[in-house]
Amino acid sequence: MITSQKGTRDLLPPETRAWNGVERTAREVFSLYGFDEIRTPTFEATELFVRSVGEATDIVHKEMYTFTDRGGRSVTLRPENTAGVARAFVEHRLAQAGGVHRLYYVGPQFRYERPQKGRFREFRQIGAEVLGPADPATDAEVLVMLFDLLGRLGFTGLSVALNSVGTAECRPAYVEALQSFFASKEGSLDEDDRRRLAENPLRILDSKNPALQLLLADPGLPSMLDFLDEDSRGHHEELLALLTASRIPFRIEPRLVRGLDYYTRTVFEVTARGLGAQDALLGGGRYDRLVSDLGGPKTPGIGFAIGEDRLLDVLPAATRAAFLAEGAPQVAVVPLGAEDVAEGLAVAGELRRGGIRAELDTSAKGPGRGIKNALKKEIPLVVLLGEEERRKGTFVVKDLAASKQGEHLRARLLEVVGALVKPAPAT
Ligand code: AMP
Repeated sequence: MITSQKGTRDLLPPETRAWNGVERTAREVFSLYGFDEIRTPTFEATELFVRSVGEATDIVHKEMYTFTDRGGRSVTLRPENTAGVARAFVEHRLAQAGGVHRLYYVGPQFRYERPQKGRFREFRQIGAEVLGPADPATDAEVLVMLFDLLGRLGFTGLSVALNSVGTAECRPAYVEALQSFFASKEGSLDEDDRRRLAENPLRILDSKNPALQLLLADPGLPSMLDFLDEDSRGHHEELLALLTASRIPFRIEPRLVRGLDYYTRTVFEVTARGLGAQDALLGGGRYDRLVSDLGGPKTPGIGFAIGEDRLLDVLPAATRAAFLAEGAPQVAVVPLGAEDVAEGLAVAGELRRGGIRAELDTSAKGPGRGIKNALKKEIPLVVLLGEEERRKGTFVVKDLAASKQGEHLRARLLEVVGALVKPAPAT
């Protein structure tokens, strides 16, 4: 038997209904905020990720699915989508049109990580990016939209962890402070930490080395917030004021740096209880130099990516139930004999035109089996069509939950069945 690859998985029905419900809600919310969808390729030139995500990050250093194609090019399955969006933005000269570009995406990403709960090698992200404005109001609106979406999905009690990683101008002084803090503590550093400290010191704050956790909690550890230049500090404070005014629950997390190099100023993350060790539900931040680093005109940007696999893991039960119910068939139409199949097709068609989800069951060939099949699939109503009904111009409908049965005129099909179909629970 050939099985799915390690770290990948099949999403099967009815669970896929919950995924579709989440994606539909995200699309609805994004469109309310003026966002449009962008779809970029799942593989890109390797260089794109090396230049944007950063050479010294874990993603580029050890997690990329990189291969040489038959034409001798080095290509990589995208480990994240912001780089692809920025690449497309530059390639299609979207900046020339001026204004604000609000884009969202939904799709698979690939990282060669050690699979565990909430961590896959192929996983899905729902993300959004705003390209153009540099003001903190944009950061605030992105977070307002995010919390709007999470709220509509039924999440409560979440808060966003927030930090500023400053700019390329003010970071060197902080990096120096970090390096001198760790200089005397070489013993607690593992090989990865030492590489980080030398190549990309901010990354050390991301270290998963248990021996380092104590040091990272040390009150003497320098905080980036103390090194912000005036503009970055102003940006950060204005954002906090806007979030407070918008009632977005946040907390400052001075050690939050996120695993990608392109961030400037605002970075944020939302974690959720119930996710276990991989508790980051989503992450994002501002990237004011990414577009220009990729050869485009100076265009600030900000965005986030929700880990959809993790979101589904902790999706509130009522929301999940509502999404599952939305896709479930409502009526089984059972022709009792071969001569009743044409009538079955017509009845099912009429119900569907009336917006009722009807499943034709030609395998039953009898009322008993038809009801059994419906019960097994949790279909609450069965319409039985036999020779007698055809002759009389009627149909029989069985309400399995109420154990009730009635015979009605065929002309009243939609009216009768429509009244029996329970309205889907509100989300
Ligand atoms: P990042 O692109 O690293 O900022 O990650 C954004 C979000 O994607 C994280 O908060 C996770 O929810 C999700 N994510 C990242 N890596 C994985 C993975 N290997 N498996 C599942 N979800 C992931």
